[in-house]
Amino acid sequence: RAKSAGGNRYERADAEADARAITRHGLTTALPAALDRGEFFIEYQPLVHLGDGTVHGAEALVRWCHPQHGVLGPDRFIPLAEHTGLIVPLGRWVLQEAVRQARYWEHLHADGGPLRINVNLSPTQLHHPGLVTDIVDVLERSGLAPGALCLEVTESALIGADEDLLKPLRQLAEMGVDIALDDFGTGYSNLANLRRLPVSVLKLDRSFTRGMQQHPADPVDLKIVEGIVSLAHSLELAVTVEGVETAAQADQLRALGCDTAQGWYYARPGAPDRIHRLVLADAV
Ligand code: C2E
Ligand code: MG
Ligand code: MG
Ligand code: MG
Repeated sequence: RAKSAGGNRYERADAEADARAITRHGLTTALPAALDRGEFFIEYQPLVHLGDGTVHGAEALVRWCHPQHGVLGPDRFIPLAEHTGLIVPLGRWVLQEAVRQARYWEHLHADGGPLRINVNLSPTQLHHPGLVTDIVDVLERSGLAPGALCLEVTESALIGADEDLLKPLRQLAEMGVDIALDDFGTGYSNLANLRRLPVSVLKLDRSFTRGMQQHPADPVDLKIVEGIVSLAHSLELAVTVEGVETAAQADQLRALGCDTAQGWYYARPGAPDRIHRLVLADAV
């Protein structure tokens, strides 16, 4: 019985794969007009201090409200935008929009601590010669302090990166922009290599957090996270954890010394007014 259920599942998966291949082409050709038509929007997910639950900032996560297919997540179109180069104008739009939003939160939160805005950068954006100018420009025009911006770059995008690729990130880091290594722990990077990268934050991938959901937590996962946190802290890097879905995970990660967390347990990504309320309430 299990076998036939499995078979059906695979057939369905095949049909889905075909449909996806067809839509992939359609989505790719629709991307440029979608940007002009304003079909993209951003959801924000709070980042909280594990210690006291106060809001540290938010990550900007782009979505596409497609007229036929409905709301599409970034996994459906970011790779296509990367491939065609549209990621450069799209990424610039995300940055502008997210920075504008962060500026507004700053205004609401005038007497509170600084709030961070995290924006994802993909490899093509890293290679784009206009990256630093674009970011400096957006910051200057908005008046947001560089220290309030954190750019998230995946570990895999920086594996084997040469100085040419690191130079723009170094420049941004020198201006005070934080660089986070996203999805850390999935890319088999050489840990000693971390010293060479201009990063100030490690974002521990969700796969580690998952091991903490079991009761008792997977002892190997605990050891690994403990080791990463201690290495990160000795290199003066902050540790953020992704994908915290339960109170038990949050407790474990706090006990292991992680600094900030993000996940459904605190809040799903949502409209910016959600963050307005959190900021005003000062905690999740
Ligand atoms: P990411 O940067 O690692 O973002 C975290 C992803 O985990 C988000 O998926 C978020 O919705 C999801 N997530 C957060 N908390 C939980 C949780 O507790 N449980 C589970 N299961 N998932 C959780 P999303 O929004 O689908 O984004 C996927 C990826 O797309 C992002 O991964 C990022 O790499 C990329 N992306 C999103 N926005 C942008 C953008 O503006 N530019 C670029 N270049 N990439 C983006
Ligand atoms: Mg990210
Ligand atoms: Mg991530
Ligand atoms: Mg991830």
